[in-house]
Formats: sequence, structure tokens, C-alpha cells
Amino acid sequence: MRILGVENGGEYLPAFSIPFFVPISVQPRRYTAYGKCRKEIKKMSYNTERGRGMRFSDDFLSELRSRIDIEELVSKYTEIRHRGSRTPTALCPFHTEKTPSFVIYRDTQSYYCFGCGAGGDAITFVKNIERLDYVEAVRFLCEKAGMQMPTDPVDDEYLRMRRRCYEANREAARFFCGCLKTESAAAARAYLKKRQLTEETVKRFGLGYAPDTWDALIKYLKTKGFHEGELVAFNLARQGRSGRAFDAFRNRLMFPIVDLRGNVVAFGGRVLDDSKPKYLNTSDTVVYKKGQGIYALNFAKNNTDRKLILCEGYMDVIAMHQAGFTNAVAALGTAFTQEQISLLSRYCDELTLSFDSDEAGQKATSRALKLLSASPMKLRVMQLTDGKDPDEIIKSQGREKMKELIGAAKNDTEFALSRAAAKYDISTDDGKLGFINEAVQILAEIGNAVERDIYISRVAEQTNTNREPIRLQVEKAYKNRKRRAERETFEAEARQAAGDDKGKIPNPERRANLRACKAEETILASLLKNPDYLKRFSGMLGADSFITGVNRELFRGIAERIENKRPLELSVFTEDSSNEQISMLSYLLTLGDKIAGTTQEMEDCIKTLAEEKIKKSVSDASEMSDADFLSFMEHKRKKAGV
Ligand SMILES: [Zn+2]
Repeated sequence: MRILGVENGGEYLPAFSIPFFVPISVQPRRYTAYGKCRKEIKKMSYNTERGRGMRFSDDFLSELRSRIDIEELVSKYTEIRHRGSRTPTALCPFHTEKTPSFVIYRDTQSYYCFGCGAGGDAITFVKNIERLDYVEAVRFLCEKAGMQMPTDPVDDEYLRMRRRCYEANREAARFFCGCLKTESAAAARAYLKKRQLTEETVKRFGLGYAPDTWDALIKYLKTKGFHEGELVAFNLARQGRSGRAFDAFRNRLMFPIVDLRGNVVAFGGRVLDDSKPKYLNTSDTVVYKKGQGIYALNFAKNNTDRKLILCEGYMDVIAMHQAGFTNAVAALGTAFTQEQISLLSRYCDELTLSFDSDEAGQKATSRALKLLSASPMKLRVMQLTDGKDPDEIIKSQGREKMKELIGAAKNDTEFALSRAAAKYDISTDDGKLGFINEAVQILAEIGNAVERDIYISRVAEQTNTNREPIRLQVEKAYKNRKRRAERETFEAEARQAAGDDKGKIPNPERRANLRACKAEETILASLLKNPDYLKRFSGMLGADSFITGVNRELFRGIAERIENKRPLELSVFTEDSSNEQISMLSYLLTLGDKIAGTTQEMEDCIKTLAEEKIKKSVSDASEMSDADFLSFMEHKRKKAGV
């Protein structure tokens, strides 16, 4: 395991794994002011989306594309159904769903999700799922394909910034670890001792101490070649009103947050006294976004049984790992996000929630279960008693007790039933009725008839009532639910087939311009199939023919590539197109089979666009003020020579 400590000059130091990037010794740009630095970063991240110089040749991209099989690649992240067919499907790794709407197109080596509109080629896929920059994604695929990276992307500003951020974080983590051994860290060490963490655990998680001074970290990182502006941008330092920077974390116990590749991406800092906030976390930087990470997943993902335990906080996770439950993780940030759920389900089939037993913890459990209900993971809930958290239970009752509790974890139905039962006084008739009504709704969610039956009996027993009436109610509610779900699926499919699924096609103007959009999409899809149409229709079709901005931009991009005789593969678009544009292109590729692709169809669509354009100018006119309208009509009259 690379993340574990290594012998370092005779001393055992936590060496945060060899960074993904080889450190570079380029002298960093001098940042005079915080504002300038931030602006530059903003510009840089903007630049990654569009308008950057071409980095790879089309030949190289085509070669890479031919060596990577998109189906093979995607299968590493989600299970594929109908493997080897022309259009295999899968549960989308970018959003939570129970029926697959993620389709892979072998012909075009692309994918498109009809559920959330994510689409692209292998590069886009890696970029989004591994959260990499464009060049990083190409490098990732190159390594997979055994190809050499053609150019040295060291000059890339944004990428350089990310690399600097990883390096600064790693150095900071080392610094905090070192500080934990100093005299000033006595309180931090006392806290760890109270928590009964062993030295080994402290090292494994790279815990450290941020000293109670204003600039100890800044001074240290300056000796390592970092500048104040960078440290502010990386959230390791803050800028005071006077303009001077100071350490972002002071007098705190530090938890480095490590991503799946072993990079330190952020920090959580816990107070050692009563000051607020209790936990301080790194906010968004070039390498970290809140609500994305799962704490300790870098360790937990190595468990082969694909079972994870979700705890509430860092300390719970660490205590669990120390007790041998190395599959414990925690969601970073206060609200559990869809992104975190997708990430978890990549490594987990059965998720056990282990939140505090207090009211706040139980509410958090219900909330998380609701969010998780659409995920394919099997859910269980641990019942911790007497306001205790996992850490306290392990300490006071030992490892065996914890094991017992994990084994006895209730499934999500049992948890929901016990939550409902707690709301009512079942000894009264009113209470019974209230509970049964709620229980019926809970049981109606269960797809498996045998399972439903077992719980019906339990509810009947619990309330000391007849089983049959409850069963009838549950079956009725179940059928209603099923019918509703079927209707929704049917309607969604019908909308999809009719191409009306506006919400999922990444064009914000589509809803208001449906007819025009369908024509625009057909034209673009047809161009992708028959590039010679560009020349053939050059007199009738130009960027101005398009009504929606998204499609107009796409037309420009496609036309430019056709004119320069470049291939029309997605990989050729990925470098300078945004995620939305790539998704839209992937959607257009899915239309390939549905359109006729004839010149007649092109002509019809161009005509439709012209009609829609006139309609639009008229409807725009109706929104004009009277004066504007008069001058508009005047203008039209003059033009017509009246
Ligand atoms: Zn999706």
C-alpha cells in the first residue's frame, strides 16, 4: 500500500503516496495579490473548457481511440448488460438509477445517457468519472493503451496549478504530521490519547497538528518554493484585510483527505477547545470540490466483499478502522450528494449506515436512505443504542460488540418501520391505526412478494391485529405504485422515442423551440453522417440559419472541422468543447440511425428552420414596445420597397 508510511531518513514519516504527477521544479509565477491569483485560476479553469490551443494531433487521437474500447472501459465502472451487442446498456455511473438508460454505441465508440444527458467518448468518460483535466484524461488512457504521450503538457497553466496544489497539500500534510510531535501539540496528543488512537493509526491516517500561530505553515511552504498567492488559492492560507496572508488552519487536529489515487486533496481540521466551528474544511480548490469525496474510501475500496459502512465523521471512521473494520467510510460535507452515492456504488453492493443514535443522527439516516433509495446498493441500518456513536461503542463495549451490531443491522424496511412505530402509541386504537397506515405505504415499496408477506405478518403481530386486512391494503397500495411507475416509465420512453425529452437533452432553449430544435438536430446529425452536405448546401445553410445557440455553436465546430478535412470523431472535439457540447454531440450520434440522411430531408429541415425563424421574429415583435414595433414595421416596409 503506497499510502502507508515509509522509512524516511531513519524516521517513520507518513509519506503520502508518490504523487500522480512527478513534481516539477518550475519557478512559480509571482502572484502579487490574492485577487489577481484568483482571477487567473478562474481564467485557467475556463480555458480548459474551450479555446485552448490544440494539444494533440488528430492522428494521435484517432490512434488512441482505436486502441481503447469504450465498452471495456465503461465496464470497469458499471456492470454492462447485453455485452458485445451493438448497443450495450448499463446503469449510468453519473446518476443514480435502477433501470439502465446509459447506452454505449460501439459504432461511434460513444455513450449517451437518456436519463441525465451525459454523453461523450472515452476521453470525456474518463475526464468526468475520474474527475481529471483533459490532458490528464488523455494521459490516463494512454497508459491503458500502452501509448506514449506525444507532447509534454508541462506548459499547461491549469494543469500546472493542479499539480502545484497537490504538491502544496502533500507538503502541508507532512508539516502537520511533524508538528504533532512538537511541544505545542500536547493538547492534540492528549486528545488522540483520550480517543485511544494508536501511533500506527495516527500514521496510517496521516493525522497532524496545525500550530497555534499565524504563519507557521506559510513560512514552511515558502521554504519549499510556494508563494502566498498560491497558498491562498489552495485554501491553505487566507488573506486578511491588511492584505497579509495567514494560515487557514490554526490550533487544530488535522485530517488529510486523500483521493483514490493517493493525492492529498483537502483537509479537515478539528478544534481542540470550545471554539467554533468544531470542524473546518478546505473549500473548493482546483483539485477539490465539496460534496464529491468519501473519506477513507482510498482504504475501504480495497475490501473485496464490496460491503461498506457509512459513518458520520472522521473520528468514527478512524476508530472503526483501528478496530479492524477497514470498510468504514464517511461522506465529506454536511449534505449527502448524488455524486457521493455514485462514487460509493462503484465500490459497494451493500451499504450499512452507522449514524449516531440521537435524534439528529436518526434524521440524517432517514434523509440518507431517501437519497439512497434509487441506488442499486442494498441498504442496512445499524442500531446504536443510548446516544452512542461507533467510536464510543468500540471503546466501552469492545470490538466484538461492534461486530454483533453490524451483523444485527436492520435493512431499510425494518428501519423505516421502527421509525414509524416510534411515532405512535401502539397501545391505543388511534396509534395502531396511524402506524398501520404508515406501515402500509412502507411495505408497498417492497418489490419482492415473499419479503412483503413476511413484513405484513410482523406488522400484524406488532399491532396485535388481523393479518388479512393489512395484506389487502398493502397489495392495493403496491399495485397502485406499480401502475404509477409503469405509466411513468412508459411516458418517459414515449417522450424519448418522440425526441421530446427536453430536460435530458443539454440544450436549454429546446423546450421553447421544439420544432426548430428537431430540425437543427437532424441537420447536424446528417452532417456528421454526410460531411459533403456542408458544401452542397452552403448556399442555404450557415451558422445564422440556426435558432438555438447550442446548435449554432455546434454547427460552427462541425463546419470548421469539415472545411479543414479533419475527422468528425468525438475525440477530435473533446479538447476544445464543453461537457454540454460533447453530450449534445453524443446525442446527435444516437440520432444517426433514426434520421434518413437524405438531401430531401436536409432541404425540409432547412425550410423548417427558415419558417421558425420568421415565426420567432414575429413573436419577438409582439414583445416589443409600441415605439419599437412601429420602427420595426417601418424598417420592414423600407426593406420591401413599399
Ligand atoms: Zn445518467
